[in-house]
Amino acid sequence: MRSLRSEEMNSHRILFLFVDGIGLGPNRDPNPFATDAMPTLESLIAGRLVLGYERQEPTLLVKGIDAILGVSGLPQSATGQTALLTGVNAAQVAGCHMPAFPVRPLPSLLAEFSLLKQLKARGCRVTSANAYSDAYWQRKRPRHAATTLAIMAADIPFRTTAQLLAGDAVYWDITHEVARASYAPELPLITPEEAGQRLATLLRDYHFVLYETFLPDLVGHRRLPWRPVEALQRLDGLLNGLFMMLPENASLIMTSDHGNLEDPDTRSHTYNPVPLVVLGPAAAAFSEVTDLTGVVPAMLRLFESGE
Ligand SMILES: [Zn+2]
Repeated sequence: MRSLRSEEMNSHRILFLFVDGIGLGPNRDPNPFATDAMPTLESLIAGRLVLGYERQEPTLLVKGIDAILGVSGLPQSATGQTALLTGVNAAQVAGCHMPAFPVRPLPSLLAEFSLLKQLKARGCRVTSANAYSDAYWQRKRPRHAATTLAIMAADIPFRTTAQLLAGDAVYWDITHEVARASYAPELPLITPEEAGQRLATLLRDYHFVLYETFLPDLVGHRRLPWRPVEALQRLDGLLNGLFMMLPENASLIMTSDHGNLEDPDTRSHTYNPVPLVVLGPAAAAFSEVTDLTGVVPAMLRLFESGE
């Protein structure tokens, strides 16, 4: 397959919304997805994001995909995210589910097969919307998440606090509440809607925009003082702002690395499938995806298809 130049690219634009720690649980209490905390999402997908709810239409795909990957034990972040961002079954390669920050053999998988790197090599303009603090880069013993390593592999710039201030980036907490308390009190609070509009604006200049939030996972682990529905309300506001301004040729792809928040009875991850939601003209391209490893090949086919 020859490499396509940007001018020859098909017209797809993708916002890849990676939401750490959301699975599909039963449509009942105490699952916060069963509480109407996400009116925007529920209107967009015409239902609740719960176990058993599936849709396949020309511009809408909702399905559960497997995060267990044929490997025993609870699905974890490092292997799940690596699978999602490389298309390689990282848990099988590692022989187990690996938590948190990738260690051998995962970084080399990300360095070689990063989705952002592969899209860039095909002529796509790719970016990460997330801002990183200066302090993040000044740590003495840096450990990076899989998403960060996938961005590094593409050799593209990381967004900064100055870009957050200018409205050209989004922090993982969506609204700056954590950022203000932890490192940047000068940042104004923004609404989740504004965060979503910032993401939509980036799609004017880029074919592929990655944004990750680990808000739901941190709330699920009780490492943030918010209730599960409060995390979902922020996410829903972001979707609301995004769809106010989403370009017509753009699609949202929202997925996760493992379940967590959908089961507030436990602080740990779950075995539940994770949602794959695609809204927009790219929906059909993802209909055959059945587990975390299927997202990257579907994305690469989408940008090679010339549709
Ligand atoms: Zn995770």
